[in-house]
Amino acid sequence: MKPPHILVIEDEQTSRSICQTALHRAEYQVTVALTAREGLQQLRSTRFDLALLDLNLPDADGLSLASTLRGTHPALPIIMMTVRTAAEQRAAGLEAGAVDYLSKPFQPVELLHRVRRALAEGPPAPVTQINFGAWQLDVEQRTLRYGEGFELELTLGEARLIEFLLRARGRPVNRDQLAEAVARSGEGNPKSVDVLVSRLRRKLEDTPRNPRHIVTVPALGYRIDADE
Ligand code: CA
Repeated sequence: MKPPHILVIEDEQTSRSICQTALHRAEYQVTVALTAREGLQQLRSTRFDLALLDLNLPDADGLSLASTLRGTHPALPIIMMTVRTAAEQRAAGLEAGAVDYLSKPFQPVELLHRVRRALAEGPPAPVTQINFGAWQLDVEQRTLRYGEGFELELTLGEARLIEFLLRARGRPVNRDQLAEAVARSGEGNPKSVDVLVSRLRRKLEDTPRNPRHIVTVPALGYRIDADE
């Protein structure tokens, strides 16, 4: 049987080496990526059993990337690595789709313990409802509820797109990530991301031309603003 294949997405040399050395010694197959972009490229061509994902990458926020991967690779367990240890960060990581958390600096023995546990647990359970501010998205039903106010029915592409914005919890998400996230709905290229956003705005904004909820982030993409 082939050993589990683990993708390490980490720009820092020290913790990357610790991961590589420890995982090799434990006879896992290891591939490293130094940026989110590289990680996504690897994931397109190779099937991995687990990803170790750094929270701060040079080209992306690890939380947004975790959200993206949750949509594109729902069966892939993710362990987040971070120097931040605050409970809130931990919660955000888990909500973004990570199955576990590793605080830097860590010992190889701790890393291996968590890797073994995550592999033993298998694919993460699907999350079907996401709450953010007054919003509640039901991923399975493809409905978006706003407080007690109204409920919208969404197409698959619309649901995937808003799921990713909600999982990012107000942080900006770039167009490429959104395109990747909606790709499997058959509506996924950067142009169709803009089309989907327009459609969503028509559905849920009071004034679609002056949107308050799905906010454009110039030269990057979009974020969701759940404040009322
Ligand atoms: Ca880093």
